[in-house]
Amino acid sequence: MITIAGAGLAGLACAFELAQRGAAVTVYERGEIPGDSSVARFAGGMLAPWCERESAEEQVITLGSRASDWWSKITPVHRRGTLVVAPARDRAELTRFARRTSGHRCVDTAEISTMEPALAGRFAQGLFFAEEAHLDPRRALRDLSAKVQAMGAQIRYGTPAPIRVTLDCTGMTAPLPGLRPVRGEMAVLHCPDVDISRTLRLLHPRMPLYLVPRGDGHFMIGATMIESSSDRPVTLRSLSELLNAAFTLHPAFAEASVAETGAGLRPAFADNLPRLTEQDGTLYLNGLYRHGFLLAPAMAQQAAARLIPETTDEDHRERQTA
Ligand SMILES: Cc1cc2nc3c(=O)[nH]c(=O)nc-3n(C[C@H](O)[C@H](O)[C@H](O)COP(=O)(O)OP(=O)(O)OC[C@H]3O[C@@H](n4cnc5c(N)ncnc54)[C@H](O)[C@@H]3O)c2cc1C
Repeated sequence: MITIAGAGLAGLACAFELAQRGAAVTVYERGEIPGDSSVARFAGGMLAPWCERESAEEQVITLGSRASDWWSKITPVHRRGTLVVAPARDRAELTRFARRTSGHRCVDTAEISTMEPALAGRFAQGLFFAEEAHLDPRRALRDLSAKVQAMGAQIRYGTPAPIRVTLDCTGMTAPLPGLRPVRGEMAVLHCPDVDISRTLRLLHPRMPLYLVPRGDGHFMIGATMIESSSDRPVTLRSLSELLNAAFTLHPAFAEASVAETGAGLRPAFADNLPRLTEQDGTLYLNGLYRHGFLLAPAMAQQAAARLIPETTDEDHRERQTA
């Protein structure tokens, strides 16, 4: 029996991979409702390894490029790509972003208008990352929880984990040296007047913004990156910067309702890369930072291979086809 502490992104992804390899799994989650206590409930749900490479190591691509395929077995994944734009005065930011990333092509104002008619005439140039995707994070957590249980794993919601577990995936509460919180603030806007179908990134030297469509006129906008352990509600400064940036993207956002705001702590190590570490007989998967949806699948596969080393690729394939 494999016991897992935490049914957030890392814990559920590991439960999935372990159940897939035929293990008996029990997951303990202190929160009562699937996803409700996970920092992932505030996430954008972007599966954007090529854009993220702008400020991250090459591993975000090597580990994250298959994430969309993994998630699409579990929950709807919107493979619409990412469109990166910048206001005319910040065009140098676009050149810099293009230099630091790959997997994109340049698009002009005509192509931007065809892709997203709501942005017609607003931006002269952009970068399009065709292979990127997004999902709805809360739905993804619920769907993954249901899938894992359908595969035979037990998830005990409302139950703090026992002291000794096989695998610890407790995010920011894990007792790991060097783990630090990076605060992220976000908002959800309701603006039925704007129709945008793919993830947009607005480059800005001070307040870069991303916007992820949630459907039904809702858009998640985010997110701040603050070295802080405070999980108090979003500050006025952060919210006004996010809203101003959304307004720069499209003036119709001036009439949007702010449907929700939130703030969460991303668990990160000094290099901002996830790690598997062993401590006192427990394996820890942590440090997913701002890449939980992107990197949890590959990291969970590594964790499962560590815990069930005798599984051969052939066994694995047989189980998948069974
Ligand atoms: C604003 C924001 C935007 C983001 N956007 C993206 C994005 O677009 N794409 C992306 O890939 N990532 C994104 N992320 C990052 C992603 O949300 C995190 O990387 C991920 O949630 C971390 O996963 P985790 O499993 O380590 O922690 P969590 O998801 O927080 O899970 C930890 C779980 O452990 C449980 N737990 C803790 N202690 C115990 C205990 N003692 N017993 C039982 N259960 C316990 C908690 O209740 C929680 O459910 C974003 C994060 C933020 C804050």
